[in-house]
Amino acid sequence: MEPLILIVEDNQDITKVIKYELEQAGYQVITAGDGVSGLTTARERMPSLVILDLGLPDFDGAEIARRLRKTSAVPIIVLTAMDEVDCKVSLLDAGVDDYLTKPFHLEELVARVRVQLRHRQHGEVISVGQLEIHPQKHLCLFGGHEVRLSPKEFDLLTFLARQPGRVYSREEIEHGVWNGDLPTNSNVVDVHMANMRAKFRGLDGYGLIRTVRGIGYALKTL
Ligand code: CA
Repeated sequence: MEPLILIVEDNQDITKVIKYELEQAGYQVITAGDGVSGLTTARERMPSLVILDLGLPDFDGAEIARRLRKTSAVPIIVLTAMDEVDCKVSLLDAGVDDYLTKPFHLEELVARVRVQLRHRQHGEVISVGQLEIHPQKHLCLFGGHEVRLSPKEFDLLTFLARQPGRVYSREEIEHGVWNGDLPTNSNVVDVHMANMRAKFRGLDGYGLIRTVRGIGYALKTL
C-alpha cells in the first residue's frame, strides 16, 4: 500500500497543487485546513508523514508540531514563509524533521518526502522515555538494555508506543495487534500485558504500562 501523507495547510490552492504532485508520485494524500483538524486527522488516520504549514488560522504550526510529537513519531516537514534562523531552530526543537521555505519547487518537496520516508523505513526508532523500539530490527531497549519480547509482545508494545499516553480499549488492541482475530471474552491481551510487565519490572520499568480500570491500557509517557 502507498504511504499515506497528511497535508495540514489552510491555503486551498497550495494544498491542491501539493496533493496533485504527491499523488502523481504515487502517494495517498489526505488534507486538513487547520491545526485542530490536522491533529485529529493525524491521530485517527496515522499517516506515514505530515506536511505542515507554519501559518495556520487557529494555531502556530510549531505548536501543532509539538503536540503531534508528544504522541507520535511521524516525520514532519514544515512549510514556512519565514526565513529566520531563530524560527528554524525553534522548529527543530519542536521535533520537526525538515522544513521548506515558501516559495519552493514541488519537485523539491517530493524529494524531501521521499528522503524522510526512506529514513523511517530503514531506521525508524520510537522513543518514549527510557524505552526505545526499533520496529524494522525487532529490537526493544529499555534504559539501553535489550528486552527480549515475543513477536506478539513486540507488536503490542509497538502499537501502544506509537501513541504513548493514549488509552486503548481491549477491543482496539485486539483489532490493532491481532486483527480482531481472537475469540470473544479472550484474556489473551491481559496475559500478554502481564508477561510483558514482568519482563520490564526487572529493569526498573515497573509502571511502564498503565492499566486504566474499566477501559484498557496505555503506555506511560514518562
Ligand atoms: Ca497558511
